[in-house]
Amino acid sequence: MSILRAWFLLALGAVSLAAHAADDGVPLDRSKFAGRPLLADFTAADCPDNPRGLDRIDGNLYRHTTGAGLAVHSGLVLITREGALVIDPAMTCTATWLRDEIRKRFDVPVKYVVYTHAHADHISGAQVFQRDGAIVVANQRAVEPIVGEKLPTAVPDRVFDTDMTITLGGEKVLLHRVAPSHSDSMVMVLFPKYRALQCTDVCESKSMPYNDFLDFYYPGWIETLDWVAAQDVDVIDVGHYSPATKADQAALRSYLVDLHQQVLDLVRSGQSWDQLYRNVKFSDEVKRWIGFDGMKTLNILGMHRWVTNHRRGTW
Ligand SMILES: [Zn+2]
Repeated sequence: MSILRAWFLLALGAVSLAAHAADDGVPLDRSKFAGRPLLADFTAADCPDNPRGLDRIDGNLYRHTTGAGLAVHSGLVLITREGALVIDPAMTCTATWLRDEIRKRFDVPVKYVVYTHAHADHISGAQVFQRDGAIVVANQRAVEPIVGEKLPTAVPDRVFDTDMTITLGGEKVLLHRVAPSHSDSMVMVLFPKYRALQCTDVCESKSMPYNDFLDFYYPGWIETLDWVAAQDVDVIDVGHYSPATKADQAALRSYLVDLHQQVLDLVRSGQSWDQLYRNVKFSDEVKRWIGFDGMKTLNILGMHRWVTNHRRGTW
């Protein structure tokens, strides 16, 4: 073997090792954050009357829910012989129930908790699982807001940049960071065997995006919905309400593009907020979405803020 060829093979090995390591994420030294200041946990008070559930989607894939009516919060759960993977526990007071329910029904521990993004309403309760030995996984960009906002939940044990694969009980779970869209730490979680996707808060389920689009980035939101459209999935959990489809995300994309264009045109025509918000039109389909009456003006407000922060006229 020539020296050149030996070097090339060595280099190739190093590259594939590096790629493999990157795919597993990297450990985060949590001791740096020991004793960090925490805000009060608004989900910790006992909530025996708060509805909760763990329902099968398909095979080993389940969905946990918490909250009345259409689920207030939800996340996918994978149950394998080696343990469970839980996405976004959502509340401390229901996380203890979920832990006990998984143990009672399936006799396995929770091995992984995955954060979709660093918003307290989705990631509260993870400390319950981390205390029992679960590995908490998030995008590396989630660490700063969790610590900086003093969120009373688990600091992740493992973080990753663009992609991470978790193999558990012979099943693969693919984590992928998408563009800044809804927060800049947004992770999509794919379950290829079940053609299922966790797309929390960026995706909707015949429902209006929340309020004035908290922590949002318009172009990355559209880019992320395009990424979702390219995935081979049938069922999408949006972190709320009921499971959705790719068609629902196509409708959401149309709504956002239309709202952005209307607000941009009205701002460019010189309309003040007080004029503008009365002149935005919604389609009949959007008028039927969950939360339309309460969210429509707030959605315009969020888009107005984005548009006015991202344009410049002749001055
Ligand atoms: Zn969120």
